[in-house]
Amino acid sequence: MIPLLDLHRQYPTIAGDIEQRLLRVARSQRFVLGPETDELERSLAEYLGARHAIAVSSGTDALLVALMALGIGPGDEVIVPTFSFFATAGVVARLGAKPVFVDVEPGTLTLDVEATRAAITPRTRAIVPVHLYGQGAAMDELLVLSEQAGIPIVEDAAQALGACHRDGRRLGTLGLVGCYSFYPTKNLGAFGDAGLVVTNDDALAHRIRIMRNHGMEPRYYHAVVGGNFRMDEFQAAVLNVKRTHLDSWNAARRKHAASYRRMFAESGLVGEAIELLVERFPDVPGSHIYHQFVLLVHDRDRLRRWLTERGIGTEVYYPVPFHRQECFRGLGYRADDFPVAEDAAARVLALPMFAELRADEIAAVVEAIAEFYAR
Ligand SMILES: *Cc1c(COP(=O)(O)O)cnc(C)c1O
Repeated sequence: MIPLLDLHRQYPTIAGDIEQRLLRVARSQRFVLGPETDELERSLAEYLGARHAIAVSSGTDALLVALMALGIGPGDEVIVPTFSFFATAGVVARLGAKPVFVDVEPGTLTLDVEATRAAITPRTRAIVPVHLYGQGAAMDELLVLSEQAGIPIVEDAAQALGACHRDGRRLGTLGLVGCYSFYPTKNLGAFGDAGLVVTNDDALAHRIRIMRNHGMEPRYYHAVVGGNFRMDEFQAAVLNVKRTHLDSWNAARRKHAASYRRMFAESGLVGEAIELLVERFPDVPGSHIYHQFVLLVHDRDRLRRWLTERGIGTEVYYPVPFHRQECFRGLGYRADDFPVAEDAAARVLALPMFAELRADEIAAVVEAIAEFYAR
């Protein structure tokens, strides 16, 4: 068995530290927004190089509270890539605003800059690039566009914690606000749901901080309506242990990705059966943390069954782009509006990727794929 992700291999390496901290939280009887959360916010703000880090209840709520703090609601439009995890578009719709879908670039499958420019209207209130699979969207170009158009960027960095832009700044800290997820399968995973918002804007940080807790300031006085987007101390405690390993885990992912890429290049499959995604900054170590290792493959669904039968875990991120989701039918998009996303949805396949993956397992995955196409 070579699973897509095996958390059991990670846990024994950190179990002692985590269990000690969880016990401390239990004995403290401080459960929500306490010292563990404070420590997490301080340490991640420093790690990311952001002035403010605000711990929240999930990655989805990070995006939601960021958009709420920007005052986005009915009558507003928010540009999102049509190819991402549902939350990126779902939060826009939940606020009564209109998600405006844009195609992705071939190669990286991140937000297409020219299509974004063309989608801007007088109602556009934010642009939400997604740093898909662990590398950045075209942030240099998007930041120029944001500046020219006067529209803020909200980075969905849920899959890219720790990854860098070419200049060394961490993804999630380049736009006005950045959002991260600590869902257990993410590269820094809690023992449940948790997320983080970062910004360098003091006023916005204050709004996000109070909106995380019903817009309350001072106690039982509410000048704005927020929600309950608080992080609990058990999640923060787990994350305070795990965060100290993040760089080495990300480095291990990059090493595994380099092995996959080298072996596929040597396999003779590239160009025919499979296509490797493009690294935006191949010479900048750390610019891609390979949250997922994704290929574009021919005859995807049969290959997937073949690998499943051989005990190799795979996943499709994502089979249905937003513009074809039933809940967004009312927006009036057509399947052929976004050809790159359509092609990606039909051909993407994520292979096993986690820090503890072994070299022999990577070789076995590549070999199984080669066997499939050799039949
Ligand atoms: C995981 C993820 C989210 C949402 O995070 P949750 O913590 O699961 O709510 C948002 N956007 C992207 C791109 C994600 O991968």
